[in-house]
Amino acid sequence: MTELIKAAVLTAVNKPLELQEFPAPAPSSGGAVVAVAYAGICGTDIHLKSGNLPVPMPIVMGHEAVGTIAALDPALSTDINGAPLRVGDRVVWSNNIPCGRCHECLVLKERTLCKSRKIYGINRTSSDAPHLLGGMAGQIALEAGTAIIRIPDDVTFEEVIALGCAGPTALHGMLENLTIHPGDTVAVQGSGPVGLAAAIYAKQMGADKVILLGAPASRLELALEIGACDEVIDMGIYTDPAARLEKLRQMTPQERGADVVIECAGVPAAVAESLDLARPNGQVLVLGQYTDHGATPINPHYITKKQLKIFGSWGFAEAHYVKYVESLSQLRKRHDLGALLTVFALEDVNDAMDTVAAGQCTKAVLRP
Ligand SMILES: [Zn+2]
Ligand SMILES: [Zn+2]
Repeated sequence: MTELIKAAVLTAVNKPLELQEFPAPAPSSGGAVVAVAYAGICGTDIHLKSGNLPVPMPIVMGHEAVGTIAALDPALSTDINGAPLRVGDRVVWSNNIPCGRCHECLVLKERTLCKSRKIYGINRTSSDAPHLLGGMAGQIALEAGTAIIRIPDDVTFEEVIALGCAGPTALHGMLENLTIHPGDTVAVQGSGPVGLAAAIYAKQMGADKVILLGAPASRLELALEIGACDEVIDMGIYTDPAARLEKLRQMTPQERGADVVIECAGVPAAVAESLDLARPNGQVLVLGQYTDHGATPINPHYITKKQLKIFGSWGFAEAHYVKYVESLSQLRKRHDLGALLTVFALEDVNDAMDTVAAGQCTKAVLRP
């Protein structure tokens, strides 16, 4: 009898996810089947559920996961770094497969902009076999072309999933756009996983001081506790943008403002505020506006007058995921990444989604 695998399926917008069962898949040509150890819940999942980002339904959700190889097609013998792959290996994978043939992939060399990217848990319906193309399930079927990465022996599943898609997202935007020097102050707007990842990597890239603006207080305390940032501005206390600007300026030399501002808040108004927080000739990276929440008033005069450098960055591709995993052996020595997790059973997926939507935890993960 075929083994049945449980999965959390979104069948309609704004409806609770359903637990459905699908037959255990066999690896496709050049692919692998992974027994999921943890699947992360990301802010994006909340937007998918509420219909802010249209997805094909029904869909097994989950675009970030880690696990153990359960079955391997003989045509797949190494991970993306050339390390041998075997059944039982602990792995993670880049959640998207760019086509590798289009203008964006080949001419612009921006694989994140590929319009026909296949993304596990985001644009792969569960209607057809192999059904299990999202992480919130007992198993996931990874297809040929997936960048599978063997997890280094000294890194735990918990440490990888803690910044599951936030880490590579932050790395993509920061490595390819920002210049951070010793002595710099970096302000990060937003204390969710992307904000924490940006704060951690800002320090890695050489920043002297990293200031995290966010809420609630519990998240900021956790950020300080794991050493993700040096100082915080609690938006529950500093509710007014003018008060936050004054506070931030006081924390920077000659009250100049931040050398670099990284927007990870996802709220359109945060972008207008980032222009104020940045010092003259400073850099602003807009990383958090993954979901289209509409327009917001800004004063473009500041961009010209302050000679701001403004960058945008969308998701991540294989190279960023490889860098992310490579960074973890050192990051784990400096930061207790596992402390970010709140673990739920797969069966409690709807409770977990509600907890994330309410901002009551930093990183919710499901354990099948
Ligand atoms: Zn995500
Ligand atoms: Zn493409």
